[in-house]
Amino acid sequence: MQIDNRYATLDEKLFHRQPPSPLQQPIAGHFNSQVARQLNWPESTDWVSILAGQSVPEGFDPLAMAYAGHQFGHWAGQLGDGRGLLMAQVIDMNGQLQDLHLKGAGLTPYSRMGDGRAVLRSVIREYLAGHALSNLGVASSNALGFVSSKMPVQREQLERGACLLRVADCHVRLGHFEWINQYQPELLQEFTSKMIDWYYPECNAEAESTGSNRVLCFAKSVIQRTAKTIADWQLVGFAHGVMNTDNLSITGSTLDFGPFGFLERFNPAWINNHSDHGGRYTYQNQPSMAHWNLWVWLGQLLPLGLDKEDLQAVLGEFEPAFLHHYSEGMAKKLGIDAEHPQAFETGMDFLRLLQNEKLDYTTSFRRLIDDKDWQALRDDCIDVAAFDQFIKRYQQVIGEHPVANRAALMQDNNPVYILRNHMAQRAIEKAEQDDFSEVERLYQLLATPFTRQPDIEQENDLLPPFGEEVAVSCSS
Ligand code: AMP
Ligand code: MG
Ligand code: MG
Repeated sequence: MQIDNRYATLDEKLFHRQPPSPLQQPIAGHFNSQVARQLNWPESTDWVSILAGQSVPEGFDPLAMAYAGHQFGHWAGQLGDGRGLLMAQVIDMNGQLQDLHLKGAGLTPYSRMGDGRAVLRSVIREYLAGHALSNLGVASSNALGFVSSKMPVQREQLERGACLLRVADCHVRLGHFEWINQYQPELLQEFTSKMIDWYYPECNAEAESTGSNRVLCFAKSVIQRTAKTIADWQLVGFAHGVMNTDNLSITGSTLDFGPFGFLERFNPAWINNHSDHGGRYTYQNQPSMAHWNLWVWLGQLLPLGLDKEDLQAVLGEFEPAFLHHYSEGMAKKLGIDAEHPQAFETGMDFLRLLQNEKLDYTTSFRRLIDDKDWQALRDDCIDVAAFDQFIKRYQQVIGEHPVANRAALMQDNNPVYILRNHMAQRAIEKAEQDDFSEVERLYQLLATPFTRQPDIEQENDLLPPFGEEVAVSCSS
């Protein structure tokens, strides 16, 4: 493994160096061989003791990062890694910098009222969600594995303590810039410069060749990456649930899974986070909440001498970038030509149908692929006249501008399997009894989410069980 602990070379005011507080008597949960390969993780290492914080491999330099943020629209002051440590940074097999971050590693100076621990339930949810999104092609953190333990951790009830070794291309959050401006403004220039060097080196090259402003290029690039990820979330029906500025990465990769969810019956106003009483972070609000977070973040760059007008223009690039990615992706999901004048409207028509009929988002798109399955879709509709009208228009659009290999295009853009709440829940209930077989089954299923796997598929992997809804709270 090629270690490259860059963050530890920054000004020490930005973090607190400390070892993890071990989890006693760890139990092996699951190990992600896909991620291990990516990292060139040495096979012979005792991953259980490392993930439990019992041993720290040579070259690791554990530290807790300081950051701040706006939570649910309000300034929250200093936050920081309250229960996780950046253990090391490594260069993966693709030459990409990756952070190894141990979640559940005990108290840090940033723990505030928390206990520094993570519970098995939320660790499994994060483990499977990162795996699912990564294999769906959505920029996301993933994990090398997790361990469980019998150590009790108090949440709404007593739960099992656990640790997860998160792997992400970056743990620098929009809120890092807020922390610096609030508490150590003299660090802003150097910190920003390093972030450009590490994460957006193309901005250095562009500035050198054209004389353009590298910070402005950085700002534009963060806007573009975030717009792409949010479009991908909307397309796969992912709702993050806690899009605070401390939970969004400057690389645009999905970070910090809490009460997230994948849409099942299509309802754009769905509040998957039960603590989100105002519905700030509903599925349909995600693009505008990202825009709001980026507005807060761009303001943090003002002290670097950028013009307000320039930053406003950069922020103005978010919406068209989002719409571009979203409409291209939606056209692929429908198997239609994005250039067809009715392409976008056809997508909206289909979504309206799903919403009115309370149909499953994921499975309904799959059923649209083959006209042999249209009858099943129709049978699930109460307003069959509306369905017939939609199908007539849809047939017209696909007939007018046919795309090559329509079925294959749709199969590649519409997953068979997503991580449904009840699926994660079943895996958690078994894992609480030290049985990780359901985690393993879901790991296999979600590794190739676009391919039907009849040998391991179970009832309700394609649709939620009737009437069952799993409540997810913020206490993780
Ligand atoms: P989150 O909304 O889960 O991303 O967390 C917001 C802030 O609370 C971050 O600074 C976390 O490190 C901190 N935090 C969350 N849970 C705990 C915990 N159990 N112990 C210590 N800090 C926590
Ligand atoms: Mg320090
Ligand atoms: Mg967080």
